[in-house]
Amino acid sequence: MKPEIMMVFGIFAGFALLEALRTGFLHKKRQTRSDLVVEVVSALWSLGVVQPLIVVSAALLLAWSIPGYQGVLGGVGFLVGFGLLLIFDDFTVYWWHRLAHSVPMLYNLHRPHHNAEYMSVRVTFRNNIFYYAM
Ligand SMILES: [Zn+2]
Repeated sequence: MKPEIMMVFGIFAGFALLEALRTGFLHKKRQTRSDLVVEVVSALWSLGVVQPLIVVSAALLLAWSIPGYQGVLGGVGFLVGFGLLLIFDDFTVYWWHRLAHSVPMLYNLHRPHHNAEYMSVRVTFRNNIFYYAM
């Protein structure tokens, strides 16, 4: 498994553990059975299918389009690489999220994320399955 995927999973698992210890993870007031189904399906789809496809397709696209830069960040070390990942990932997520709230078609794909009637790390990946693919 790619380190990027492991980091995303680790961050999610850390927050899920904190939530389980403090407020309960699977049992929320006002949740319905379909909430859990939507959250499990969208999380598995995002983490298991879309994100690995993005990592592989981005690597192939970059290797094809700018082959001279392949491996250019290979020697930066873990902390610098992790910092760059956090900055650029957060930058990308911020602008994508902002666009999703500005474009009606994108908001329709993003709406499930805001429809939950409870706060939980479980809603992190709660979106239409095409939201992350776009
Ligand atoms: Zn939003």
